[in-house]
Amino acid sequence: MINRTMNQLQWIRNGRFYQFSEEATRFQNKVVVITGASSGIGRASALEFAAQGARVVLAARRRNTLLELERQIRDMGGEAISVITDVKRISDCERLVNEALEAFGQIDVLINNAGISMRATFEELELEVIKELMDTNFFGAVYCTKFALPHLLKQKGTVIGISSITGLAPLPGRSGYVASKHAMDGFLNTLRLENMDKGLNVLVVHPGFTSSEIREKALDGHCLPHGESSLDEERMMSSERVARYIARATYRRERDLVLTSQGKMVVWLHKNFPGITDRILVYQMSKENQLTIHQNAV
Ligand code: NDP
Repeated sequence: MINRTMNQLQWIRNGRFYQFSEEATRFQNKVVVITGASSGIGRASALEFAAQGARVVLAARRRNTLLELERQIRDMGGEAISVITDVKRISDCERLVNEALEAFGQIDVLINNAGISMRATFEELELEVIKELMDTNFFGAVYCTKFALPHLLKQKGTVIGISSITGLAPLPGRSGYVASKHAMDGFLNTLRLENMDKGLNVLVVHPGFTSSEIREKALDGHCLPHGESSLDEERMMSSERVARYIARATYRRERDLVLTSQGKMVVWLHKNFPGITDRILVYQMSKENQLTIHQNAV
């Protein structure tokens, strides 16, 4: 009991201390639904929003990982439920929204975060890879947003899409991934316009390299998980830091967020010098050997 009370007062993670701070109550009485909550950015976001007072709804396919996270949040004095969800299935996305409403009565923030990556040139891949990427990264976000939208409008809430730097610039060996993120950007930017006078905020997040499981799970040309990454995850931005940026941008009702200095530079170069940037990317590809680029980029 003492521990629980202490935990309610203190959320100490990664050197952050929320005791009695304004941040601890930023999302009090808010309900945040997060897809892809079982690892990486989604998991870190669940902990961050819960630490800032939100009731969180955790969605992903891995039951045990979700239940463990749910327990962790409850032990810290937060409120969470898990809904086993495959975002490729329309019925799962509808059930996710229904169970969130059943448990908490409202939805204030939807974070469309579930995603997978790939490593193969278009020439060498099987079409199934592109379909898998679009179904998960793009259609998964479309389905969840469709069912959550009436409830988000009611709350004048926020829809978030976790896109990527590749939502703004191309990357060799990632045709399906880049297409899915460009599609997500276009979809959410249009949703913003359609609901501009209805109080809905739409936030599109473009993370750069972030330490997570994404490279390990990336699909090869035959739609199988690659199972390894030669990049040093330690040198990337942490998922926890990305989650803090997401929570802050949500609180401030910002419209977009581009992360990492390297990511910002790529976006700027591509916007201002697209021809040169194309050549740099292709040069990098040949310099580092096709496979290395394939294995490393998100
Ligand atoms: P992780 O692989 O660590 O997390 C991906 C999450 O998505 C997991 O929780 C996974 O859960 C879930 N997921 C995958 N497929 C499905 C599905 N069909 N239904 C439901 N959940 C699913 O990667 P990240 O945390 O890095 O990725 C999160 C988002 O951030 C992605 O959209 C990614 O594209 C984006 N991003 C990541 C970057 C990075 O460098 N890490 C850079 C730019 C963008 P489960 O397997 O349990 O279903």
